[in-house]
Amino acid sequence: MGYCHCDSCRAWSACPVNAFSLWPPDAVRITKGAGSVGGFQKTEKSVRKWCTVCGGHLLTEHPLWRLTDVYAAVVPDLPFKPALHVNYESTVLPMRDGLPKQKDVPAEMGGSGVLLPE
Ligand SMILES: [Zn+2]
Repeated sequence: MGYCHCDSCRAWSACPVNAFSLWPPDAVRITKGAGSVGGFQKTEKSVRKWCTVCGGHLLTEHPLWRLTDVYAAVVPDLPFKPALHVNYESTVLPMRDGLPKQKDVPAEMGGSGVLLPE
């Protein structure tokens, strides 16, 4: 779990940061209203999903990383425990919380792995 500061997340979430929670795809199951989920493949790395009834954003699938980002804000009972910031080079809302600030994404995900100061 963490925060993404990239332009794409900011525009999609209409917020200065996106609070994410990443899961193996098999661990995510829509239990109600699955027939009302719209999708848009923005890039090879991300497929956005939203509710076609209310317009609410639900999640982003990251097939190349075999991860699904369920936005922390849409799981009210989820104890949000952020571990890092990603794409911090794009931040418009610096956050001094002591967590690691990845310039882009961790090296394990194909990023530089470079950390930025707060
Ligand atoms: Zn992002």
